[in-house]
Amino acid sequence: MAILPILETPDPVLRQISIPVETVTDELRTLIDDMFETMYAAPGIGLAAVQVGVPKRLLVIDLQEPEEEEGEPVRKPLVFINPEILEASDTLQPYLEGCLSVPEHYADVERPDRIRARWLDADGKAREEEITGMLAVVLQHEMDHLQGILFIDHLSRLKRDMILRKLAKARKEQPRKAA
Ligand code: ZN
Repeated sequence: MAILPILETPDPVLRQISIPVETVTDELRTLIDDMFETMYAAPGIGLAAVQVGVPKRLLVIDLQEPEEEEGEPVRKPLVFINPEILEASDTLQPYLEGCLSVPEHYADVERPDRIRARWLDADGKAREEEITGMLAVVLQHEMDHLQGILFIDHLSRLKRDMILRKLAKARKEQPRKAA
């Protein structure tokens, strides 16, 4: 397994539309393992393949929700290949989102709070489920990546530009800090 570099906005690869996965090969399974390792190390709760420079319709999620008693996060790795949203609720729910490709910035995004989704799992098996709560939020965020969309695209132009300006400034200051 390997930790892969995560692309950050404004990298143009993040704006590509990812292509469907045709078959679940050993190569793809290795990529999935590497994506989990990369996501846990970041740390993050979701990662789309395009964020590590592979524009394929593949994403991994692990909410790592803390166990009630011990407070230790429980790992529950989920793999979504070629995911599709079949139905979405009319009711929207705001949620404070962040993204490994837009580091250290968070903003409320409104999305349907209930979706019915279809996808292939890591074994290439077709799955269909109704998904709610935080998993629905993260899945929709990651599926946006497959369309070249970032969560900041859901914000007002003013908010988005402010985040992009701060990111550009932070990037410019980084080498000076390191020197
Ligand atoms: Zn993201």
